[in-house]
Amino acid sequence: MVDVVLELTRITKAVSMVSTPQQQVSVIVDEISRCLDIDVCSLYRLDEKKNLVLLATHGLEASRPVIIPNQQGLVGLVVTSRHTINLDNGLTHPDYFHVADIKEERFKSFCGAPLVAHGEVIGVLVVQSRHSRKLSEKQEAFVTTLASHIALIVQQLPPSLNASNAKKKLLGQAASEGIAIGTPVYCAKATLNEVALETCDDIDAEIAQWEALREEVSQALIAEKQMLGNNLSTEITNMFEAYRMLLFDETMSDRIIDGIREGKSLATALKHAISHFAELFQKMEDAYLKARSEDVWHIGNKLYQTYLERDNRQQTIVQHDSENIVLIGETITVSDIAQIPVEHLKAIVCASGSRLSHTSIVANALGIPAVMSVSGLMECKAHDRIVVDGSEGKVLIDPPPTLLIEFEKLIEKQREYNKSLDQYTHREAISTDGVKVELLANSGLLSDISPGLRHGAEGIGLFRTEIPFIVSDTFPTEEEQIEIYANVFRHYQGKPVYMRTLDIGADKQLPYFPITGEENPAMGWRGIRFTLDNVQLLMTQLRAMLRAAGENGDLKIIVPMVGSMVELTRFHQVLDDAVVQLNDEGHHCQKPEVGIMLEVPAAISQLPFWSDYVDFISIGSNDLSQYLLAIDRDNPRVSDQFDHAHPAVLAEIKRSVDTAQKLDLPVCVCGEMASDPASVLLLFGMGVRKLSVSSSKIPKLKALISKVDSQQAEALVEDALKLNCAQLIRERAKVLLDSLD
Ligand code: PEP
Ligand code: MG
Repeated sequence: MVDVVLELTRITKAVSMVSTPQQQVSVIVDEISRCLDIDVCSLYRLDEKKNLVLLATHGLEASRPVIIPNQQGLVGLVVTSRHTINLDNGLTHPDYFHVADIKEERFKSFCGAPLVAHGEVIGVLVVQSRHSRKLSEKQEAFVTTLASHIALIVQQLPPSLNASNAKKKLLGQAASEGIAIGTPVYCAKATLNEVALETCDDIDAEIAQWEALREEVSQALIAEKQMLGNNLSTEITNMFEAYRMLLFDETMSDRIIDGIREGKSLATALKHAISHFAELFQKMEDAYLKARSEDVWHIGNKLYQTYLERDNRQQTIVQHDSENIVLIGETITVSDIAQIPVEHLKAIVCASGSRLSHTSIVANALGIPAVMSVSGLMECKAHDRIVVDGSEGKVLIDPPPTLLIEFEKLIEKQREYNKSLDQYTHREAISTDGVKVELLANSGLLSDISPGLRHGAEGIGLFRTEIPFIVSDTFPTEEEQIEIYANVFRHYQGKPVYMRTLDIGADKQLPYFPITGEENPAMGWRGIRFTLDNVQLLMTQLRAMLRAAGENGDLKIIVPMVGSMVELTRFHQVLDDAVVQLNDEGHHCQKPEVGIMLEVPAAISQLPFWSDYVDFISIGSNDLSQYLLAIDRDNPRVSDQFDHAHPAVLAEIKRSVDTAQKLDLPVCVCGEMASDPASVLLLFGMGVRKLSVSSSKIPKLKALISKVDSQQAEALVEDALKLNCAQLIRERAKVLLDSLD
């Protein structure tokens, strides 16, 4: 009997060797009929109208598209019954459905197994043979098992492989809100991926070439920074400085030089070093840090492109003559964006990357839509009209004129809406019955400090301090940290800045201090558990925060992942010591307010015991929901069930807010929930008066609060707490949201 795992590995490998979806499904059916030694293997996919479309077949004759309408026939029976059907003779079965021209009547035996993804049948795998013979139990089990694996591959394919359909609509990750229409400009450049193993003859000359190349790219980055600088805040253009820092990172340079000394050509040494560092980031589970591997690739590819240009081997200038450009590419760097006049750049569509990449951050800052991780972009032709919907993560290629008109109307509506938000940006968010909600910004990047102020932030509600630790080669020193934190206080003069101590571990790993060997890292050595065990780091960080705040900065410290009183008291001892030390050294400082991230569910019932040690709470709805629901929101298999509007999450947040009110503790919500309008109404109705969100969301939320009455929000909460599923709660919230429009 064939080994299912071995066969599956073989099939997956064969699939990975071909590029188009049509080739992939053909490989699947050919491989399965080979390993089962059977006459026919076919794959059907259920389309939006519940028809079964034959994606590929080995053995049947399918010279034209084959569609079994309305889930009919034995294949349809597999779908509706949701289990494998194994028959010695399918032709005599009452459900047999004759499809003309495919010559199926030659094959008697039939075994069909459902392809199931996320609990839904998405298609059917069928094997057939000429003889009237049922598959053995073992063979049937094999087909069923194979089908469950194949479903994961088929799920990735478009519902129809028909080229004209695929051309219409591509899906990706929504990265920057808004809709735009334009023509595509390809950013097709050489990448390090294409570099083969090359050797070098003259090591010294190659090293000298590296030094010169680095300098040249550095100058190019300075020029690009100036070009974009007119349109973006200095903090955004500081990304170019971050790229330059990477460029002059000695560890990376040493690796490249070592590669050359081993006899590799500059291009090969560059490729090896860049892949090494990119992989370090890629291995991190945290989505933001993972996205940093893109920065490493960006700088690597830029070096390589400049290297080719020096040899006149390639032109890297993006060619364009359109005034409405949709910039399209496998990867699009900040440098590529800098080459297009900003007034002509309407949208960005990228085959790779995520909503956390620098490309997305720049798109957000420029206020243009962006969609990332889109496959099928090669379908776009030079004169196609492209609609980019950055809110839904959709790209439409050459839609019919009627649809274009609809999108044009939407763009106009969006323009008016954005304009209407301007009036709220620098106003306070006060409900119609006079209740104020403070809106603060989440920050942590060099580049998102001043956008917060521009968007009307009343302070920083969550400063994530992990980034400087991650982009460094070693733990940053006290002085290095002071420089970063002082910059924040300088910008937010007199406004509150809630700084969180290092929340490392689990999904956020340091390249120079990997935490390995944990079976369950989300519940392992992270947050305060890690920093208390490495108290020297905590002490240095607290000293840096206190010194950076000085006498004028309004510092408040948030402690992540607190789950016990012991952690809290130990934290206070370290903070007290830091204050004493600094005052003894002549740095005048006072003990700041201390709060906890409320994200470990245990903290909720324990709040009354902790009230002497806590001045405020900050609800980390991301982790709190993850731990309450036991759902990893970054795990694509279950993330669609992650919803902070889940009744259990709402009930616990309500309990936390009620307890905090009794204890007179201010509450802020700083997870993603605070950016979701439906949840914001619920939080407001529960009594939350402080939200911390990405800065671009602030005007919209200020507008929302300004239109609602606190009693309407309270009524919403009362209704929501009687409902038992997130979808019903969202429907109820939508009624209120719609009434405010
Ligand atoms: C949270 O858990 O909601 C939160 C804000 O913290 P982080 O996303 O950084 O873990
Ligand atoms: Mg958290």
